[in-house]
Amino acid sequence: MKITFFSFKDYEKAFFEKANTSTNFQLKFLEVPLNSTTVDLAKGSTAVCIFVNDIADKEVITKLKELGIQLIALRCAGYNNVDLEAAEENKLVVVRVPAYSPYSVAEHTFALILTLNRKIHRAYNRVREGNFSLGGLMGYDLHGKTIGLIGLGKIGMITAKIAIGFGCKVLGYDLQPNEECEKLGVEITDIETLFKSSDIISLHCPLTPETKHLINKDSLSTMKNGVMLVNTSRGALIDAVAVIESLKSGKIGHLGLDVYEEEAHLFFQDLSEKVIQDDVFMRLLSFPNVVITGHQAFLTQEALTNIAETTIENIDSYLNAEPLNEVKALHLKS
Ligand code: NAD
Repeated sequence: MKITFFSFKDYEKAFFEKANTSTNFQLKFLEVPLNSTTVDLAKGSTAVCIFVNDIADKEVITKLKELGIQLIALRCAGYNNVDLEAAEENKLVVVRVPAYSPYSVAEHTFALILTLNRKIHRAYNRVREGNFSLGGLMGYDLHGKTIGLIGLGKIGMITAKIAIGFGCKVLGYDLQPNEECEKLGVEITDIETLFKSSDIISLHCPLTPETKHLINKDSLSTMKNGVMLVNTSRGALIDAVAVIESLKSGKIGHLGLDVYEEEAHLFFQDLSEKVIQDDVFMRLLSFPNVVITGHQAFLTQEALTNIAETTIENIDSYLNAEPLNEVKALHLKS
């Protein structure tokens, strides 16, 4: 069985080769992303393995089917980049890695919170230049602050545990009830109360038509002045233009991003010699109270081990006619 990997990075290789030791699938690693211009490179494979910014829309899926592809194996949790209806129409099975290390993303969320609050990004540069002045570096105690978590799934729950460890009051909003979170001490609330009452708001829900631009001009206007906003989930949860206005007015006091709506043109590549054309992104970078990382929250050894092992296991289970971790179009879900 041959599998073509798109958007493949060198740091993934050792993990996939190890996970493939007993299955011995033929792995073809390509750096290019999957889209309508690269899809032909999957020719000769039974499966494609794709990542967060690969595009598996109707056009690409129809082409994959023509090429004889039977399986789309996502090596990530989110699947907003796959047209599941088109996959079903073309009888392509879609599998994903539902959980690989919620700790990796929750811990990165706190890396952003602590960096922003204690101005570590600024202090690092100052000290290297022999500037030991403390002006502008004052933070606040996290202890006693209110943190609002939108989405209380695997990552949201670990983030809640960490926040409770810091002595924060935790508010949580989710579409589903979550008794485990309540037992931890998370106060389940409606989204309006969460927006209104939180000193820090962190997003842990998936990108869906309902959550697109959940953070917009209107919701921002209901938040506390100086709120810290953190997004390690999906870029399009935030309307970046509205966020820039709120940074300029001081409504947002700190912004931490690991994801960005237009990241597909930027992230996972070295553009340090290029002139970046995305003016919204460059404006975001210009604020002293904004820290952006390039979709690296998942990047721990434990997460990559789990991603590789689960992906190979998913593909193997498909061959045995019992696909694990299958993702189906909404109307097919029980
Ligand atoms: P999960 O499925 O365990 O939890 C998501 C939660 O969001 C669920 O409890 C669900 O009920 C809730 N939800 C759905 N729609 C909602 C809405 N409209 N409002 C509020 N809550 C809603 O997923 P997870 O493993 O916790 O991952 C969360 C998100 O993190 C993923 O969707 C993915 O986009 C993102 N993620 C990012 C990285 C990264 O490297 N930055 C890595 C993994 C996952």
